[in-house]
Amino acid sequence: MNGYFDSNATTPMFPEVRKHFAEKSAAIWHNPSSLYPEAAEAKRELEECREWLADFLGVEEPSRVVFTSGATESNNIVFSSTQALNPQGKRVAISAIEHPSVIEPAKRHWRSSVEMIPVDPEGRVDLSALKTILESREISLVSVMAANNETGVLQPWEEIREICGLEGVSFHSDATQWFGKLPVGELGSSEWLTGSAHKFGGPKGVGFLLVPDGCDDLTGAQTGGPQERKLRGGTENVPAISAMIYALKQLEAQPPDHDAKARERDQFEAQLLTEISEIRVVGKSVERLWNTSMIIVPKHNNLKWLTRLADLGFQVSTGSACSSGRGNPSHVMESMGLSFREMGRVLRISGSWDTSAEDWEGLA
Ligand code: PLP
Repeated sequence: MNGYFDSNATTPMFPEVRKHFAEKSAAIWHNPSSLYPEAAEAKRELEECREWLADFLGVEEPSRVVFTSGATESNNIVFSSTQALNPQGKRVAISAIEHPSVIEPAKRHWRSSVEMIPVDPEGRVDLSALKTILESREISLVSVMAANNETGVLQPWEEIREICGLEGVSFHSDATQWFGKLPVGELGSSEWLTGSAHKFGGPKGVGFLLVPDGCDDLTGAQTGGPQERKLRGGTENVPAISAMIYALKQLEAQPPDHDAKARERDQFEAQLLTEISEIRVVGKSVERLWNTSMIIVPKHNNLKWLTRLADLGFQVSTGSACSSGRGNPSHVMESMGLSFREMGRVLRISGSWDTSAEDWEGLA
């Protein structure tokens, strides 16, 4: 029985990715900036990864792909760089349910010039509120995640990207929870796009950022050597980058049957509701990631549930890892209008690519 239901926090490397990572670590550990043939091999691997990812995202210019240490770094770069380029007096608009790695850098770099886009009670960004913000304020950048890490609710990023295009406003999407779970679609047509390998069976500490066409300066990225077109200094972690791409290739070759997977998750929720009718499933009536189920239990604090489930061999979460570590109620639930009492009863359950119907049934 696979009792791991915290995949939105992190995933183990897929076994074949782990093997690939070990092989590449042994074979191409040289510094890609060095000048002998072995190093050239590492450089070739790096650039092939960049080209593959650009192609995967439907991006013409591979140099728009910058490899980073993960989604947190990518998101930080977005807000420091856009602030540095900010035409006088413009503002940024971010959704109220963004991950802290978007909210905190937005506040740090844009201070009081951050507009929060509200969400509806199901956790979907309110498009009419966004339109009002765009009409009434001079906005330079809109940042809305593709899928929420706590509720799994899919955000209307296609519409938002289109609206931003019409308004001449840059669009950033933190697609950390989307990659590997759902087809990439038009995500690559965002000016800025964030991804992180450890959320889709790749190694930790590696991710990417798509930057706007022609971008030749990234303020806030670490400076140092001339790596990544001088956009981000530091020796590239080629084996990890290669393993990240390998994980995406695996998922592209064998994509999850998301409808079938969602049915297994739905069956779990139906079973729970039969047993305990007072349970509330958050975002049940809107589109969600097939692996995620956020429930509000009718009694007992969520930590008590988490502990009891852990004793039984099931790992679940009380919210995002970042929020739960702080012991604060989640800003995501707060912005969805959950009461303080409800927030203390939330369990986030996030299955994996190999979670079976039996695993869900075991958890139920
Ligand atoms: N963005 C989202 C939506 C996330 O879910 C997470 C991790 O939970 C992050 C960013 C941060 O990712 P990383 O650990 O790669 O910095």
